[in-house]
Amino acid sequence: MLIFLATEATDTERNQVLDFLKRLGIQGFSTRFGGRPLVVTIEGGPFCFTSNPVFQEIANLDGVEEVVPVSVPYPLCCRDLRPDGSIITAGDFSVGNGTFGVIGGPCTVESESQTLQTAQCVKAAGATALRGGAFKPRTSPYAFQGLKEEGLRILVKVREETGLAIVTEAMSSEEAKLVEEYADVVQIGTRNAQNYRLLETCGQLRKPVLLKRGFSCSLDEFLMSAEYILAGGNEQVILCERGIRTFENYVRYTLPVGAIPALKALTHLPVIVDPSHAAGRADLVAPLTLASVAAGCDGLLVEVHPDPKKALCDGRQSLTPNEFAEMLRACHRVRTALHPTEPNA
Ligand code: PEP
Ligand code: MN
Repeated sequence: MLIFLATEATDTERNQVLDFLKRLGIQGFSTRFGGRPLVVTIEGGPFCFTSNPVFQEIANLDGVEEVVPVSVPYPLCCRDLRPDGSIITAGDFSVGNGTFGVIGGPCTVESESQTLQTAQCVKAAGATALRGGAFKPRTSPYAFQGLKEEGLRILVKVREETGLAIVTEAMSSEEAKLVEEYADVVQIGTRNAQNYRLLETCGQLRKPVLLKRGFSCSLDEFLMSAEYILAGGNEQVILCERGIRTFENYVRYTLPVGAIPALKALTHLPVIVDPSHAAGRADLVAPLTLASVAAGCDGLLVEVHPDPKKALCDGRQSLTPNEFAEMLRACHRVRTALHPTEPNA
C-alpha cells in the first residue's frame, strides 16, 4: 500500500499514520516518490482493498492525500504509480516513456585514445551515452582490473570532447560515491545486483543508477533490488536485462526476451537490454538486439571496440564501430515498423 501524504503534512501526522498501521500489525516505511512524502507498507493484506472500511479509515487520517492499493513487494517500482513509464535523463541521454536510449562503448577504458575513438564512433552511430569500465569486476584476480580513478578521469575528458553522457560501474559503496563525482550514470553490475548495502548507497546518490539483473535473480528479486534504491530516495533507476545463467553454454548467458514485456508490465522503470554479455559472441549481438527491440525494450547497452581482437576485456563479444552503426540502422527499421508514430522511432 502506498499512503501519500500532503506535502505540508507534519511529522505528527506522519507518525499518526505509522502508529495507526502499527496497531493493525503492519510496519510502515517513510520515504518520498515524485517529490511527495509517503508511507509505504508491503503487508496491507485485506486492508489493500478499497472496499475494506480500514482502507477508508487510513485514507481519512489527517495529512493523508491519496492511498494507492498495491500489494506487491516492490511498491515504488509498481507500474500503477506511473502508467506512462518513467523517463530518466543524464545530459543528452534519455530513456523511457517512449524515448529510446542507446549506450555504447568498450568493456573497459584502456587508454584515452581508445576511449575517445570509440566514443566518437558510437556517437556518430546514434548513441547518446558512453559506457566504459574503470572498476572492472573480473572473475580472475589476475585479469586486468581496470584503470580505476585514472579511467574515470579519461571518461570525463572524453565527455568534454564528445558531449556523451558517461556510464561506468561501481562495485562498492566507496566506489559508488567516487563514480558519482565523475560520471553521469552509476552502473551496478550483475554480480552486485543483490549487494544490499551497495544498493542502499545508490539510494542516497543524486545520479541515475543503471541496475543490471543478477544472472541468477528472478524478476521479483530484480525488482526488489531496484526497490532498495527507490526506497532510499533515488527514483532514477534504469533496469538492464543482461541474460541469466542456464544450462546452455553455447551462449555466455541466456537472454530471456520475455522478461522485457514482463518487466514493462510490472514497473514504470525503463528497461534496457545488454545483448553483449548475454551473447558472449559478437555474431549473436545483432539478432538478440533486434529481438529485444521488437519485444519493446526502452534502450540498449552494447559493447563496441575499435579493434575487438586487441580488446583487454570482452573482445569476443564487442562489435566493431561499423557493425554497431549497421545494427542501430536495423533497430531503427524495426522500431519504425512497430511504432510508426513515435517521434524518435
Ligand atoms: C559490463 O557491463 O562490462 C559487465 C561486467 O557486465 P555484467 O555485470 O552484466 O556482467
Ligand atoms: Mn564487458
